[in-house]
Amino acid sequence: MPLNPVASVRPAGRLEVIAGPMFSGKSEELMRRVRRATIAGIKVLVISHSLDTRSELSTITSHIGVNIPAVPLSDIDSLAEAAHGEDYDLVAIDEAQFFGPDLVPVVGDIIARGADVIVEGLCVTFDGGPFEPMPTFMAIAEDVLKLTAVCTICGRDAVFHQRLPARESKESSQLSATAIDASHIGGLESYVARCRTHFSPGAIK
Ligand SMILES: [Zn+2]
Repeated sequence: MPLNPVASVRPAGRLEVIAGPMFSGKSEELMRRVRRATIAGIKVLVISHSLDTRSELSTITSHIGVNIPAVPLSDIDSLAEAAHGEDYDLVAIDEAQFFGPDLVPVVGDIIARGADVIVEGLCVTFDGGPFEPMPTFMAIAEDVLKLTAVCTICGRDAVFHQRLPARESKESSQLSATAIDASHIGGLESYVARCRTHFSPGAIK
């Protein structure tokens, strides 16, 4: 017997967050959860951002090259429309930082209508600051997985990523730390994971 027998409407969904710096395996973890949901027969919508140039049109591609089907979208309105278009049980959002802070109320609405949401993305900028909307999602989620990468200098847990000055391109040097730009992701050649001791964003400004 339900605690509240009057509650006949679809209960609200759950928010799960997968957050971390670059190279922390966020997309792999999202894919693992989506695969499990698919096997369980849950109706899943996977959304990527079309700015993510690692992605082919219909897949999420991680650094290790594993693909899962995804719908690439470029803005919040398209995301809301896609999420409400069918009766999805789970909406998984890859690289959520690209959608910006306006994603928060949209995700809240999806959850209120009864679907679970997994939001995955960068929670730190390359100069070490919080990268919205992920910190907000981390605050209001039922479950948060905070991942770390591996420091390329000492091998300890890396909570940051930073740009490599020697290989910095002219275009990327003009980016702000929260630049919504494809060069902020997937750049194995441009960014490195760093622990707290070896993180030195000031050196490259
Ligand atoms: Zn280190």
